[in-house]
Amino acid sequence: MSVENFDIVIQGGGPVGLACAAWSLQKFPEANIALMDRNPADDVDLTAADTRGVALSHGSKLLLDTINAWPTECADIHRVHVSQAGRFGRALMTREELGQKALGHIIRYRDIHLTLRKALRAIQKNSPHFIWKHIDPNADVENIQAKCVVHAEGGLFKTQDWVESGRDYEQSALVGLVEVENAPPLQAWERFTSEGPLAVLPSHYGPNILNLIWCGTPSSSQARLALSEADFLKSLQAEFGSRIGQFLKIQDRRLYELGLNYRKDITQANEVWIGNAAQTLHPVAGQGLNLGLRDAYLLAEKLSILFSKPEDQKTPLAIETTLAEYAQSRKLDRSATIGLTDFMARIFTSNLLPVVIGRGLALSALQWLPPVKTALARQMMFGRR
Ligand SMILES: Cc1cc2nc3c(=O)[nH]c(=O)nc-3n(C[C@H](O)[C@H](O)[C@H](O)COP(=O)(O)OP(=O)(O)OC[C@H]3O[C@@H](n4cnc5c(N)ncnc54)[C@H](O)[C@@H]3O)c2cc1C
Repeated sequence: MSVENFDIVIQGGGPVGLACAAWSLQKFPEANIALMDRNPADDVDLTAADTRGVALSHGSKLLLDTINAWPTECADIHRVHVSQAGRFGRALMTREELGQKALGHIIRYRDIHLTLRKALRAIQKNSPHFIWKHIDPNADVENIQAKCVVHAEGGLFKTQDWVESGRDYEQSALVGLVEVENAPPLQAWERFTSEGPLAVLPSHYGPNILNLIWCGTPSSSQARLALSEADFLKSLQAEFGSRIGQFLKIQDRRLYELGLNYRKDITQANEVWIGNAAQTLHPVAGQGLNLGLRDAYLLAEKLSILFSKPEDQKTPLAIETTLAEYAQSRKLDRSATIGLTDFMARIFTSNLLPVVIGRGLALSALQWLPPVKTALARQMMFGRR
């Protein structure tokens, strides 16, 4: 069997792998890159795929705009209301107090994925040495060698074939599209219940069709998945309350297991891990993909500089050094985002009385101490630089 040689191989054609390929080629069109994608070549096969609503930050929008990969079907968030079920403490964040056009944007995973595929196809036209291989996961492994291997295989907690450091929150997220009676437009709701966070987020379908993410123990989430529509809506109403009127319909219910899984070392010799292949987070703070896109962007920047140099400068040592510099540059953002998400996932699930009281006080503090609120919102919108 003949061996194909590349400068860079990117394993994984999810949002992070696609974005990394697109930014690398945009910065250095001559780059000799192979993207190994397990998804089919035809977009039609992906249109019914993962429809869950994902919150992208303004920082991610700015990054995706650079490659024309911002989906048209998107709902902005202008206000976020945070509360805890049956306890004191609430906070409201608005775009006005943060001086932003929007606090975030909600887009279906599949739209982010499809828009990035379209953006990469456009960039591919000017990239003579780029190969996009659609591989069959059941076929023999292709004989490909590369000077640098980028792992962007992603995956969900408990489906990944690597476990390093982290935590099993023993929680699942039930997601779906819910129709309500009377929701204020462009407002997101995050409510902390005894079993975990329950988020109701805007959607591009209009003010009364919202994305639901309801975290609970695996057994109660399974039970909720199996409930009839009427019983499901009744139990959702009881947890959420009547702030947005009656819950009228639920569609497309799906379940995801949640946990934290992260690599302490994201590089090893000529290999580097980005996106969910480097860290898989609880969705409570909506940070996983935002962090993964920042990984992809900064790695593309480093790799395009290195691989645009003359051949004799792309030595194994130069590659290892570049990857080590990349890892160092990601340290602060990774640790802050992983730490904040883990803290929120744990603190907002505990029912210990001191924690419940502390949580109420923290929400009140957030409400009454604008600098704290602004600092938290900025971390979530742009990450740590
Ligand atoms: C319920 C839920 C809600 C979420 N909400 C948010 C949110 O609001 N905001 C946010 O920022 N993040 C959110 N996330 C996290 C976000 O979905 C992930 O961080 C993001 O999908 C990671 O992208 P990725 O490309 O790294 O991995 P993936 O999306 O998993 O894509 C990886 C791709 O690689 C392919 N692949 C796997 N193995 C191989 C291989 N060996 N060779 C080639 N290809 C391979 C897979 O088929 C897949 O297409 C949420 C996650 C969940 C579960």
